[in-house]
Amino acid sequence: MEERKRIYLSSPNMGGLEQQYIKEAFDTNWIAPLGNNVNQFEKEIARYAGVEGAVALSSGTAAIHLGLVLLDIGRDDVVFCSSLTFIASANPILYQDATPVFIDSEPESWNMSPEALEKAMKEYAAKGKKPKAVIIVNLYGQSADYNRLQAICALYEVPIIEDAAESLGAEYGGKMSGTFGKFGVFSFNGNKIITTSGGGMLVSEDTVALEKARFYATQAREKAKHYQHEKIGYNYRLSNVLAGIGRGQLQILPERIEQKRRIARRYAERLNSMPGIRVTTEAVHGKSNCWLTTALLDIQPEQIIDLLESYNIESRPVWKPLHLQPVFKEVAYYAHQKNEDVGKNLFEHGICLPSDTNMTDEEQDEVIDILSNHLKENV
Ligand SMILES: *Cc1c(COP(=O)(O)O)cnc(C)c1O
Repeated sequence: MEERKRIYLSSPNMGGLEQQYIKEAFDTNWIAPLGNNVNQFEKEIARYAGVEGAVALSSGTAAIHLGLVLLDIGRDDVVFCSSLTFIASANPILYQDATPVFIDSEPESWNMSPEALEKAMKEYAAKGKKPKAVIIVNLYGQSADYNRLQAICALYEVPIIEDAAESLGAEYGGKMSGTFGKFGVFSFNGNKIITTSGGGMLVSEDTVALEKARFYATQAREKAKHYQHEKIGYNYRLSNVLAGIGRGQLQILPERIEQKRRIARRYAERLNSMPGIRVTTEAVHGKSNCWLTTALLDIQPEQIIDLLESYNIESRPVWKPLHLQPVFKEVAYYAHQKNEDVGKNLFEHGICLPSDTNMTDEEQDEVIDILSNHLKENV
């Protein structure tokens, strides 16, 4: 019997038009740097998300970093950040020598807890050490609860950087993910809902700030015939070839979102009647892009991850919260409620299920059967 191919968590899935845009870059010899694909990709993302402008960058991490640079964040500044996230959300705070403070999740959307944020704001304001920015992450494709989070940030006059790396195409109150802060960030890394193999985007209503982002992303080169530098910049622009992949991918994004949502629905339909597992359902406040379907287990997630791996199926633990990471052991942390560390609980019980749009229904059914049989016997 021929062996079935590996079932992935979330692998690249090309639509077909990508190569046409890449070919255009080759035909016009605009391989690098920049060029028509970059300009068009920026316009197309801005139109899709409904924002004034966008800057194409080499990664989502670079976009977060430039957001902090544009907000003039430096040594001794405090930046609040979601704790339950990939470390890329917080690393740029350290690149700027600023001080992170981690904020717990709320249980509904797994995103930043308004209660914890409010407590942290109050305490830091009382100390005269108001944060200079708040980085809010939309986990696994689900928007954070911006009505409440924005109100708190507005009250204390602190700008938001929205880390929408995982939530491109998600909605909250009818508005697109990535548009709820001063700056929004998208990622086109290989496992995201659409990919350029590697890349990112910084979006904003503030086109003057975005022009500055372009300046900092190209080594802060001043307008002069010679190479004139008055500031320190970065090499952060996206290549014109990769932007071509992005343009093709963006055209099939609505289809990918429908596929991801269908995968989530099928998991919930078949697994939520089982003991010992609760597939995460959409938060009431927003339409998720369902980048990864997650679930909470009564048994150790490692057990299930190892079990699935023995069938050549990829799954993963939920992000380990940043406040539990050794590298951040000195960093302050605000829990959702007193004696309720939501992020830690989600990490200890959570699993990311294979949510690959290349996965067939039969393959997903196989994943579901393996899980169901194991849970029946072990819970
Ligand atoms: C992927 C990701 C990033 C970083 O994006 P890169 O393009 O890989 O640099 C940032 N934040 C979150 C939440 C992510 O999932």
